[in-house]
Amino acid sequence: MPAEVCTHPWMYAVEPFRIAGGLYYVGNRDVSCHLIDTGDGLILLDTAFPQTVYLLLESIRRLGFDPNEVAYILHSHAHYDHCGGTPAFVGLTGAATALGAADVPIVQEHAALTWAPEYGFEFHEAFDVDIPLQDGDVIALGNTKVCCMHTPGHTPGTMSYFFEITEEGATLTVGIHGGPGINTLTDQYMEEHGLPATRRTDYLSSLARLRERPVDIFIGAHPGPSRTLERQAQRTSDHNPFVDPEAWQAFLGDLQRTAEQAWGSP
Ligand SMILES: [Zn+2]
Repeated sequence: MPAEVCTHPWMYAVEPFRIAGGLYYVGNRDVSCHLIDTGDGLILLDTAFPQTVYLLLESIRRLGFDPNEVAYILHSHAHYDHCGGTPAFVGLTGAATALGAADVPIVQEHAALTWAPEYGFEFHEAFDVDIPLQDGDVIALGNTKVCCMHTPGHTPGTMSYFFEITEEGATLTVGIHGGPGINTLTDQYMEEHGLPATRRTDYLSSLARLRERPVDIFIGAHPGPSRTLERQAQRTSDHNPFVDPEAWQAFLGDLQRTAEQAWGSP
């Protein structure tokens, strides 16, 4: 059964909104996309599904931006729900694409590993990667520098991102873990695709590295685990629930416990 978000994408539409500073939510109810206004062009984090691209374009325009101002698309990882919309978006806007170098072969040669089959689709969304990202790379545009951390596990080339924004005179660090799911690390999936057992230790090492970074605003590759839409609903004129320095550590701690329960403590 194809996923409902792909067959009925309009049911997953979210009114786009500003999170803080120049950071905006332009994703849907199932998958996050974020937009950074750098003052000299836009950076887009993920494009979601091919079937939801029209929602993404609409969200960017509703905020008053032009999709043609997107200079870079930074991808969390090479799965259908995060980069499936990229060929259409690039075809319309000419934006440059960045993806973890170790995930480039997935979008170009290994359709079976894109998670498209699990969503009920064949993968026809291969794209050219202009910037194969390595650990420590920095994407700079306008007033923003996005630091790229290679955090393998969920996929071999999962990238996590950190950048600063300014909100009411305060400088706040935003962080996103690009691949928090262990759905690619089950015995069954790993056997079926011949994946090495080191994927699990990579996943845990990535969590440990992510925990070393202080984050004031935690955004998610999916809106559910980061409670993006709940936070927006709780927002008042004098309280921004997105500014929550505890949330990042709590989230990463939960991921570690979930993984250790699934695989047994090392
Ligand atoms: Zn994924």
